[in-house]
Amino acid sequence: MAEKEFKCSQCDLPEGRCACEKYCCLCQNMEGVRLVGDGLYYCTDCREACDYKTQEEIA
Ligand SMILES: [Zn+2]
Ligand SMILES: [Zn+2]
Repeated sequence: MAEKEFKCSQCDLPEGRCACEKYCCLCQNMEGVRLVGDGLYYCTDCREACDYKTQEEIA
């Protein structure tokens, strides 16, 4: 099976095709927001704080 692709929990599309408004689900920051494995978007600070990884970071 191919590597698991992260998908947006709202639209079920991968990050590159997701057209949802992207903001950090914890702090509402809109800068540096990336999708992580739970299908939600987090800013850089929150990803570091929670040890969440983007698709490229786990590959
Ligand atoms: Zn989406
Ligand atoms: Zn945040």
